[in-house]
Amino acid sequence: MKFFDPHIHCISRTTDDYENMYLAGVRAVVEPSFWLGQPRTSVGTFIDYFSMILEWERERAATFGIEHRCTIGLNPKEANNEKLADEVLEILPDFLAREGCVAIGELGYDSITDAEDRAFRKQLEMAKEFDLPVMVHTPHRDKARGTQLTIDVVKEFDFDPLSVIIDHSTEETTKMILDAGFWAGHTLYPATKLTKERFANIFFEFGNEHITVNTSGDWGKSDPMLVVKAAAMLEQRGASREAIQKLVWDNPVEFYGENRLKLEKRK
Ligand SMILES: [Zn+2]
Repeated sequence: MKFFDPHIHCISRTTDDYENMYLAGVRAVVEPSFWLGQPRTSVGTFIDYFSMILEWERERAATFGIEHRCTIGLNPKEANNEKLADEVLEILPDFLAREGCVAIGELGYDSITDAEDRAFRKQLEMAKEFDLPVMVHTPHRDKARGTQLTIDVVKEFDFDPLSVIIDHSTEETTKMILDAGFWAGHTLYPATKLTKERFANIFFEFGNEHITVNTSGDWGKSDPMLVVKAAAMLEQRGASREAIQKLVWDNPVEFYGENRLKLEKRK
């Protein structure tokens, strides 16, 4: 089985993580740009960060046999520093056009403020301009309301719904996302938010059409092996290997698009 983690913050992972991922069959990842914990104070840090994930992290992953691509965007949390947000939105087009940028994201809402709304809408416009898929982050608090609002706003922009993934979905939201025609992304954590056990229930209810699964693999308590572990659990619970393979490889490739990913090792 071959694995693609479509949402992992590799800059927070160790070389052991990369080794273990490779040994387990992870061959491709997408690293969405996001916040860094510590709030950034100048546009220069964004420039360096975007370059770092597009260039250095890609090279680091490749050393371990893993193909690494990115999504680039102004994250919702830092959209609340409006002066800085404007500066970031100004430099964003340069990075959206770069090799290795396969979508705009993570966008969306965190605390659901006016400033977040403004940055979200501006970037949805950019997605159209640059013909990029959209990766949307949904708030971990007040999940259903945040997701419904996100769906309503994205719909205003009249995208092909299959060029949009709404991530961090849970039992509360998968149905509303799929019913709206979008991809539903599921971020697995070891104990909180959404576990592999809970995701397995979602899989057996909704199947594997327009559904992806990822680890986030960030600097909080997370586990970059969770896509692999979830696949093992699905198999133990009776899913076919073909159905699992589609979930953990074909689906992310379909969402981002082979023409953008330009993976060297095809299936
Ligand atoms: Zn993330």
